[in-house]
Amino acid sequence: MAAAKNYYDILGVSRNATPEEIKKAFRKQARKHHPDAGGSEERFKEINEAYEVLSDPEKRKQYDQFGQYFGGNVPPGAGAPGGSAGWPGGFTYTHVGDIGDLGDIFGDLFSGFRAAAGARTGARSAARRGADLQYDVTLSFDEALRGISTKVDVRRDETCATCHGTGAKPGTSRTTCPTCKGTGHVTQGQGLFGFSRTCPRCGGEGTVVEQPCPTCKGRGAVTRVKPVTVNIPAGVTDGSKLRFKGKGEPGVAGGPPGDLYVVTHVKPHAYFSRDGADVVLELPVTIAEAALGTEVTVPTPAGERVRLKIPAGTQDGKVLRIPGKGAPRLKGKGTGDLKVKIRVKVPTKLSARQRELLEEFARLSSEDVRSHIK
Ligand SMILES: [Zn+2]
Ligand SMILES: [Zn+2]
Repeated sequence: MAAAKNYYDILGVSRNATPEEIKKAFRKQARKHHPDAGGSEERFKEINEAYEVLSDPEKRKQYDQFGQYFGGNVPPGAGAPGGSAGWPGGFTYTHVGDIGDLGDIFGDLFSGFRAAAGARTGARSAARRGADLQYDVTLSFDEALRGISTKVDVRRDETCATCHGTGAKPGTSRTTCPTCKGTGHVTQGQGLFGFSRTCPRCGGEGTVVEQPCPTCKGRGAVTRVKPVTVNIPAGVTDGSKLRFKGKGEPGVAGGPPGDLYVVTHVKPHAYFSRDGADVVLELPVTIAEAALGTEVTVPTPAGERVRLKIPAGTQDGKVLRIPGKGAPRLKGKGTGDLKVKIRVKVPTKLSARQRELLEEFARLSSEDVRSHIK
């Protein structure tokens, strides 16, 4: 059996601390070691465990007497874990504590943790943050460059107007859950570290509806499709994830709303593509243009036409940059470049004359282009 923990040491109080001192010490320790504040979950659990025992006069008395608290509901003959022979039967650790107290300590500050940890901090009666939602928006290549204001049909749960979110038929009210007696969780397992889980009957709410609201069927919320206007900034790319704060699901019991995330998908363009804030244009040139050099006119994403000099001897794959003619930078200022990637096109159909000239060209060529390959 694990060595008995000293609950007084855990809370940092003396053995003759008053209930008020214990409560104060617990609040201090719980705040300090709360997992949401970067504390260890193990430590937080210990603090709760210590408070659960020391805050209850009966449990504290038993703990003082035996150096251990033995909860109720011990099945006859159940052995203690770890082969302890010294104690009759097993013991359970029931992690309920003073729910009202925990509720007012953690309130909505730690609502995220409360939701994640479920029963650990008692019934989920306090304010909760609304859920985050995620939607996809498909844009044309140009819209992604310019940015647009668009509407997203967001399906979200809203508080039912008939029952004001209680889920109970008007004129009736929610009643304490008979399964968990209002705690929102049930304890499973034996031993010092018996664990609790969210009550399956009430889903952790601690209360149930006996006569459901006819509008929401007891859910307390109705799903509505509501168009939400979102401003997509100029410069998004395929796969950009934008956060619209507070546009997710409304909070529960006065909690803050969740966020709406919009993931952008950008349709391909006929000849432009994106490389972050740079725009890439693949520009085909003939072998003669590449060898002799030329000047061409190329389009920019903004619809301009700019002159571009292709130097003599330009190789296939060469990238020529036109500064500031790309896409707006999503983060930071300025605009990316237009990157013109040269694609040398080798002719596939030659006239008799062209063949003759190329054959002559070949005879005159003395350059060994494979000299580097041994
Ligand atoms: Zn309702
Ligand atoms: Zn329940």
